[in-house]
Amino acid sequence: MDTPKDADARRAIAPVICYPNDTLPAPDMARYAQVRAGMSKISETIAPPREAACFEVPAGHVFRISSVEGPQVGDLNLWNAHDLGERFYSGKTRALHGTHITTGERMWSSFPHLRPMATVIHDTLGWYGIDQYGGSVHDVIGTRCDPYTGNLLQGGHYHHCCHSNLTRALADHTRLPLAEAEGHVHDVLNVFMCTGFTRDTGQYFMKASPVRPGDHIDFVAEIDLLGALSACPGGDCGSEHTSDVAPCHPLKIEVFAPAPGALDGWSSPPVNGYDRSHGRG
Ligand SMILES: [Zn+2]
Repeated sequence: MDTPKDADARRAIAPVICYPNDTLPAPDMARYAQVRAGMSKISETIAPPREAACFEVPAGHVFRISSVEGPQVGDLNLWNAHDLGERFYSGKTRALHGTHITTGERMWSSFPHLRPMATVIHDTLGWYGIDQYGGSVHDVIGTRCDPYTGNLLQGGHYHHCCHSNLTRALADHTRLPLAEAEGHVHDVLNVFMCTGFTRDTGQYFMKASPVRPGDHIDFVAEIDLLGALSACPGGDCGSEHTSDVAPCHPLKIEVFAPAPGALDGWSSPPVNGYDRSHGRG
């Protein structure tokens, strides 16, 4: 290998943040605290182990994902309830906020919309921070476990990966044919999953989630949302996924109406302001 003489100097260049986020429109967390303080529950949905469930959340309402019964990771998809073409954009959320999200950070939507779909307003695992391995909770690194990668690496046909669970749940909810629903399934927010990259090889790692029954993460829906949550076949993702080996538990999704008056004067964020001419006047 031809290592240049100034290799160390080149490696020593300090990094710069790709997207300094101090100009991101900041969520009004004081208002969202009021929304949450007086909210009232209107629905509850259970994602059974190794299955997914859909739920709808009107703009300004809160949805909560809770661990029940035992440590469990969830794969979350979000769509605009009126337009499946606007969906959660994991990669851009990662670029804007980092590899994991928590209170005060947002789930952003796909181009050309690129606006907040949901804002995290409470996270009982916020204490976890970044551990000694570089791991943290609620990642936007992973894609979603899927049968294609399973087939590539191990062969076989496993049907309860999050990708398939989300596909079946969306097809059932929308009455779209399975193949059409599959095209709307996208990279997820890995709720409660503890992940990072190894320092030595840069590989994606997972470890047993610190989540325990009663832990939850609360979001304000910034627009009318259709959500789907899969209780990952990896369970707490401490060992393996894409199989029926790991102990799995359900996840609970609750929707709450905001405190009366807390959203007076509030409105959903507009779609992105770029004119979309792409330089062709
Ligand atoms: Zn999964």
